[in-house]
Amino acid sequence: MLADGTHEHLIDNETWQKAQDRFIKNKMMYGKYAGEKKPSEFMLQGLVKCSSCGSTLTRSVSGSMQCQAYTHGKCDVSHSVLTAKLEEMVLSTIEINLKHRNISLVQKAAPKAENQNEVIEKQFIREKHKLIRIKEAYENGIDSLEEYQVNKRKITKQIEHLQDKKNIRRAEPKDELTKKSRAEQSNAIEQLRNPDISAEQKNILLRTFIEKIVFDRVKNQVQIFYYY
Ligand SMILES: [Zn+2]
Repeated sequence: MLADGTHEHLIDNETWQKAQDRFIKNKMMYGKYAGEKKPSEFMLQGLVKCSSCGSTLTRSVSGSMQCQAYTHGKCDVSHSVLTAKLEEMVLSTIEINLKHRNISLVQKAAPKAENQNEVIEKQFIREKHKLIRIKEAYENGIDSLEEYQVNKRKITKQIEHLQDKKNIRRAEPKDELTKKSRAEQSNAIEQLRNPDISAEQKNILLRTFIEKIVFDRVKNQVQIFYYY
């Protein structure tokens, strides 16, 4: 399962802020129920799937959720559950998963950092090759001495810049990234439990690290599929 690659960390402040900004902007520009999509009316909207048929659970009678297919007679197993009860189940499951670290959420930042290092390394090698090529161009009489010197200065500057980037990246050990992510996650739980934060905002937050939640009514349990 792959997460949106543009997120540096799981739920970094920037992403969270951007999502909020976009949401507020939409609301202001198009009114309450317009914009990119209809705002979620409850935290788990669109995220919970029926364990029998895979359909999404939607709001049924007040305060409850039900398998959409069951409502239309296409699923045999009722998944009716109180929304508040399901929300609590999901939040405590996330908490337990985080505590026991049987999810690899925290590792998301690390491979990303490695990728970034690879990108810098590739750029670095490319610039080094450029240096060789301009030298050849000068030696073969294609470039004048002046052209060679200008190009050399430009490329050398770029190499220094990349070298700085490499040093900075090395100075930030994986441990620090992991700690940071973990702190961000416990912050996420706080936000999800905060009554002052809207259902729409909580739904956005959940979608930054959860792909889907499968609810099994018979076993009375949820299985959470995280992005990692
Ligand atoms: Zn179903």
